[in-house]
Amino acid sequence: MIEFRDVEKSYGDNVVLHNLNFSVAKGDRVTLIGPSGSGKTTILRLVMTLEEATGGYIFVDGEPLTHEERGGKRVARSKKDQKRIRQRIGMVFQQFNLFPNMSVLENIIEAPVHVLGQSKAEATAKAMELLEKVGLADKANQHPTSLSGGQQQRVAIARSLALDPEILLLDEVTSALDPEIVGEVLAILRNIAETTDITMLIVTHEMQFARDVSNRVLMFDGGSIVEEAPPSVMFSDPKHQRTKDFLHAVL
Ligand code: ATP
Repeated sequence: MIEFRDVEKSYGDNVVLHNLNFSVAKGDRVTLIGPSGSGKTTILRLVMTLEEATGGYIFVDGEPLTHEERGGKRVARSKKDQKRIRQRIGMVFQQFNLFPNMSVLENIIEAPVHVLGQSKAEATAKAMELLEKVGLADKANQHPTSLSGGQQQRVAIARSLALDPEILLLDEVTSALDPEIVGEVLAILRNIAETTDITMLIVTHEMQFARDVSNRVLMFDGGSIVEEAPPSVMFSDPKHQRTKDFLHAVL
């Protein structure tokens, strides 16, 4: 479903990801852990095509995402092809990234109407279903700025689901929230994990959430994977010293 093949990402001289190889199968819930600056967010941004790899290839369902090999050369794919693949991917950000000048409902129907060409009525019906799911149907006509951080993040989750994504990318979605409302957001994500087969790639500092939701955990350090294991093994019996040190610091 998602494959990283020899992926490298640099910003100038700073090599952030080194020759990265890993795959995520359909329905997998993979959590990326590791110290700050180890490249976790960059991986999600590459999948969302918000950044481009500087080397190697990323495949979604076997199809090259931003670059492909043609005649022995690494060639960029057209923006149209990239957009078509990206429509199958949703992302939720740490800072919600809602459109502040639109109502909650308008935020959710924006992409279905403008990207997929759904009718406003169809998109609205689906949006209301999603708002029910995140417990915010009564806020449909309010603006995001009048909502709490937890509520805004729940709207952002509803928005990310509006295009029926096959892949959901969650980038530290509780990091900007007050501790007492982290739980309400995680509960919704747990529910999505339990009731759908959406493939999830998760960056989080909430180790209990990682333990509950994911079936694989990848430990990153310095832009490389240092260890991979199911959460039951990773959190109780890590093998690599870097993982032990990291988990000791955060648990
Ligand atoms: P954190 O847990 O703190 O979010 P992370 O593991 O997600 O860290 P990334 O955000 O992926 O790490 O960053 C990896 C490295 O890439 C860092 O050294 C960071 O400074 C660098 N980096 C990220 N984005 C940019 C950018 N737009 N320009 C230059 N350097 C960047």
